[in-house]
Amino acid sequence: MSFLSKFDPEIADAIENEINRQRSGLEMIASENIVSRAVLEAMGTPLTNKYSEGYPGKRYYGGNQFIDVSENLAIDRAKKIFGAEHANVQPHSGSQANAAAYFALLNPSDKILAMNLAHGGHLSHGAPVNFSGKFYNVVFYGVSKDTGRIDMDDVREIALREKPRLILTGASAYPREIDFAAFRKIADEVGAYLMADIAHIAGLVAAKIHSDPVPVCDVVTTTTHKTLRGPRGALILSKIADRLRPEDKKNLAQKIDSAVFPGMQGGPLEHVIAAKAVAMLEALQPDFIEYQKQIVKNAKVLAETLLAGGLKLVSGGTDNHLILIDLTDTGLAGKQVEDALGEVEIYVNKNMIPYDTRKPTDPSGIRLGTPALTTRGMKENEMKLVGEMIVKIVKNIADENIKKEVRESVRELVTKFPIYQGFSVL
Ligand code: PLP
Repeated sequence: MSFLSKFDPEIADAIENEINRQRSGLEMIASENIVSRAVLEAMGTPLTNKYSEGYPGKRYYGGNQFIDVSENLAIDRAKKIFGAEHANVQPHSGSQANAAAYFALLNPSDKILAMNLAHGGHLSHGAPVNFSGKFYNVVFYGVSKDTGRIDMDDVREIALREKPRLILTGASAYPREIDFAAFRKIADEVGAYLMADIAHIAGLVAAKIHSDPVPVCDVVTTTTHKTLRGPRGALILSKIADRLRPEDKKNLAQKIDSAVFPGMQGGPLEHVIAAKAVAMLEALQPDFIEYQKQIVKNAKVLAETLLAGGLKLVSGGTDNHLILIDLTDTGLAGKQVEDALGEVEIYVNKNMIPYDTRKPTDPSGIRLGTPALTTRGMKENEMKLVGEMIVKIVKNIADENIKKEVRESVRELVTKFPIYQGFSVL
């Protein structure tokens, strides 16, 4: 980065500090990961210079012959990984992918049945402060108070009563496996479209260690930067299953493409699309399956360690990459714990828990995940150590000596599992 540091040392400094923060801390935010250098290299290229509105072979600007190669590779790899018949790789973000999927399937004010934000859903699934809550009529299902799990009888009852045009499944903070086939049955019963937003679990789905939404949903959206370990961005996938007549299949693919462009976006970020293609080639390697399995094994050991340390977990554990700690019994608030862990360089986020009595800005939960630590090469033994560190901080929230001790342990651990070593030449 010698050009950058000479021309703009302030930005170069901020970047170097951020790289060092990522190197020296434990990144346990469930929606984050660490991309490979190959992905970084693809992103930092002159592909950012190019306007390529439209789709491969049908662009509104000349000079797209090489961009088309790159975008077609991304499309083919997305279809291959997820067994989809159609893939749109252009959405800039998960929220935009969701917006485009709604545009393709719905009219303004149509009814959507989605997961409650406070129970693990996402802002773009109908929160009143988000476009989705403003443009559509959204009703919610949640998790059962006793089990912390989605109760499919409850979902069915709401669907029969509300008759939504679209049922949306998928979540940001749900630690259990989602039964997509059960959602399909309900959608068929009430004549609704079924959409899955697999932003969090895309890597697990790609590795086939989670139930597969693609064959049973009309549309599947995902971000590319979470368990899938790609650059920040999103995909829209559809199997367009045999349920649809050939003309309807074509229609749905076209509707999705035109909802993204010109419906939602202008020029695609082709440098990011190239990086998505690289990340998806990584996801097609056999060791990616081992990586995803390790993410889940790590989350299980982490959950067991937290439980053994006396902490309460929503739903009592995890099936996937994330864990939701319920702090209610500790007398501590989410923000306080997020801050205390941040002081020792363990990064997590405060999160609502189902039936939370505290406000969203300072809720009763902590969400944490294992994708980034697993990318660093950490396994079960390290998860036990990290779990014990978290318990120590929660139990001794104001003890500076304990914080010092845990910070030392974090430093020791990250030294053994380095990232981007030799990357910075600032
Ligand atoms: N969908 C789900 C389930 C998510 O968890 C997220 C982000 O965390 C998104 C969509 C939105 O993605 P983005 O932040 O790229 O808009």
